[in-house]
Amino acid sequence: MPGGLPKQVRAVVAAALAAAALPWLGSSDAIAQSELPVIFQWLAAGASAETVVEKKTSDPVETTSASLIAASHASEATAIDVLGDQKETVFQLTLTRGVTAEVYSLANPYRVIIDLPDVGFTLPADAGRDGRGLVQAYRYGQFAEGKARIVLDTTGPVTIAKAAMTNARSGSGVVLTVELRPSNPAAFGEGTGGGRQAADTAPAVATDDRAPAAPPKADQNKPVIVIDPGHGGIDPGAVGAGNLLEKNLVFAVAKRVQAQLEGTGRYTVVMTRASDVFVSLSDRLAISRKAESDLFISIHADSIESTYAQSIKGATIYTLSERASDAEARAIAEKENASDLIAGLDVGKGEDNDDVKNILIDLMKRETANFSAEFSRTLVRSLKSNVSLSRDPERAAAFKVLRQTHAPSVLVELGYVSNPDESRQMQSVAWQAKVAASIAGAVEAYFAKRSDVAR
Ligand SMILES: [Zn+2]
Repeated sequence: MPGGLPKQVRAVVAAALAAAALPWLGSSDAIAQSELPVIFQWLAAGASAETVVEKKTSDPVETTSASLIAASHASEATAIDVLGDQKETVFQLTLTRGVTAEVYSLANPYRVIIDLPDVGFTLPADAGRDGRGLVQAYRYGQFAEGKARIVLDTTGPVTIAKAAMTNARSGSGVVLTVELRPSNPAAFGEGTGGGRQAADTAPAVATDDRAPAAPPKADQNKPVIVIDPGHGGIDPGAVGAGNLLEKNLVFAVAKRVQAQLEGTGRYTVVMTRASDVFVSLSDRLAISRKAESDLFISIHADSIESTYAQSIKGATIYTLSERASDAEARAIAEKENASDLIAGLDVGKGEDNDDVKNILIDLMKRETANFSAEFSRTLVRSLKSNVSLSRDPERAAAFKVLRQTHAPSVLVELGYVSNPDESRQMQSVAWQAKVAASIAGAVEAYFAKRSDVAR
């Protein structure tokens, strides 16, 4: 592609663990005595698993792709250690059982992704905040159903010098070791023969086909409301005082809104995520499109780094606009739009800015934009009597998740998790019930006025 996208290095590592599960590897005694057979493959960018450029196997074990699958069992991550310095940094993940891990690097910004099967994480709440050496910070969590992911933010381009899974020294579990060394942009991924867009190999670049299935319009007479709890899984969203995670707060509120609306019997409610799982922004849009939604409400909570953070509070409703209503609105949209990046998706490359502009221009012509504004006003009125609003509660910015032409859509920032008082308040059941009732009330008021929409 033009501009020469840095090439990608991909390693697949798997430890053959339980001898019982993999009898062809020999007795468990033999495994205990020597390092576990490790499958270690370097794949070219864009290459499929069949086109291995170079294959290193530490042990001459008969291995087929079937054994890779056989080695994938549910496992629990119990410890993460980052060791070393700027010259060589070692990332170690301790797991209760061996799994197949895929390790690769991405650019813009530079990251190392570790894709895992169904792995749970039992780690301290603040794990990943501070990195070491070449690892600035890291995140982990569910990426999709039965898939987990760890994203290492690196200080610059790195090479994956080694990726291996070995028995833990303690005797129980395994340790995935990833050794990183500094590289430079030109050499990044050198020798992999890559030339295709990294997006081609990113595991979850959304398409309509892969988007979670939304239920069909069950009842043609009921308006379909899509409730979109922001973030989820590996993407925690804003992190507030007391380790309050935006993803958990907005999910709790979204579930209440869902219950309230379903309780009326007048709406079909579709959730973009039903658990703590990552859903890409384009998948959220696809869900709304497939559901033929009549209204889309994205729920978020913000945080701000400012000397005035203690005093900045209140809810804000955003609608889509190419031009942000103010600098803060633009900054918030940029932050929310980074969700896919945070989860390790290679974003932005397939996105044609002209297309986005056309959608926006198109949108301006449509009544959808007017209805979005109308719902935004209705929501502000409804929230005003129950919760505090920010000093300018109706704003606009270029939020990706609001780029939909078929349905009026708004994004609600419930408040600031960076404000200790508000953060405490937002965690209370009473507050969550109040705000959910306000959102549901606004939906009722909006559709009461637009009886023509009820089909
Ligand atoms: Zn958010």
